[in-house]
Amino acid sequence: MAALNKKSVDDINVKGQRVLVRCDFNVPLIDGKITDENRIVAALPTIKKLIADGGKVILCSHLGKPKGEPKPELSLAPVAVRLAELLGQDVKFAADPEVVGENAKAAVEAMKDGDVVLLENTRYRAEETKNGEAFSKELASLCDVFVNDAFGTAHRAHCSNVGVTEYVDTAVVGYLMQKEIDFLGNAVENPERPFVAILGGAKVSSKISVINNLLDKVDTLIIGGGMSYTFTKAQGGSVGASLLEEDYLQYALDMIKKAEEKGVKLLLPVDTIVADEFSNDANTKVVSRDAIPDGWMGLDIGPETAKIFAEAVKSAKTVVWNGPMGCFEMPKFAEGTKVVAEALANTEAVTIIGGGDSAAAVNQLGFGDKMTHISTGGGASLEFLEGKELPGVAAANDK
Ligand code: AMP
Repeated sequence: MAALNKKSVDDINVKGQRVLVRCDFNVPLIDGKITDENRIVAALPTIKKLIADGGKVILCSHLGKPKGEPKPELSLAPVAVRLAELLGQDVKFAADPEVVGENAKAAVEAMKDGDVVLLENTRYRAEETKNGEAFSKELASLCDVFVNDAFGTAHRAHCSNVGVTEYVDTAVVGYLMQKEIDFLGNAVENPERPFVAILGGAKVSSKISVINNLLDKVDTLIIGGGMSYTFTKAQGGSVGASLLEEDYLQYALDMIKKAEEKGVKLLLPVDTIVADEFSNDANTKVVSRDAIPDGWMGLDIGPETAKIFAEAVKSAKTVVWNGPMGCFEMPKFAEGTKVVAEALANTEAVTIIGGGDSAAAVNQLGFGDKMTHISTGGGASLEFLEGKELPGVAAANDK
């Protein structure tokens, strides 16, 4: 993948223009109340910039999975209210069940420079997730310029992030997207070395392409978490009742061989914390990684492993991390993940955390503000690490 050099909101003049911004306002709602507004707050820099530049700012997003029909409990109306408070100005909500309907058209028609309109949940339309032509054209008809600032859906080709760009001359990325491209895209493609990647989480099968792609790029690959037991078994060890994917034993051996051929240092656990049941109340002990007794399951890396992994991070210049080292949701099995998070927090290296569980773990453990970049997209960040082209990124104009 060549370096990504996309036009951003800093490269365009939006004065007097109608600007459609694809945001990620997919916030958790309980009884119509927003329980975590991080995604709304994260969207503010791009929105404020466009307001300050005199654009007519039309916002759109999906929320949950209404499956192509209007579901009142998944309306973006509460987001408009909170957004208005955060911006300190009116946000007109266009409550059209078909998203681009009479309300939206009238609201856009009446806009003055610097005004903000929010459209209804784009997934009220069945065509949205199929990248259908009609809805893409309808969205495009509302605007002169398109801005994509929703990284979480960048690995999907939908009307509101890809289809719409076919009918708009100018399509650029917002600040949130730019940051994801800079770190997950370009830093991984052109890293300062030594470059260390840490992979964990439940399954080898969900990260096959990530392992394969990263082995072409890194100096050191660290593998912990549930997926490490398949590697242990493949090398002839006993893994007891640990998570094991029999179908991936050969794959694990192939990756070990690839690492050798590429001169990549592959670090696997040397010890592991085993439990007699999948519970925070389980009895536990530390055993060698290849000698897990029958009936016991590995739920965290052991202390010696944690030390080795932390040490490997110390001398790195770039570190990418995706997937916890153990079942960190249970405090008894969070220590390995914590030691690795702490090592990342204390290194001078550029530290990039893939979205999803690793981001949750780092934040939960209180190290969030110590990382260079925490990705906002789980699936999208994995696809970047697989070396894939993301449709939502590809659709933006090149510089
Ligand atoms: P992933 O979505 O693949 O990154 O997996 C994250 C999940 O993997 C978390 O919910 C962890 O609890 C789980 N996990 C990590 N280590 C283990 C393990 N040793 N056994 C079972 N599950 C694990």
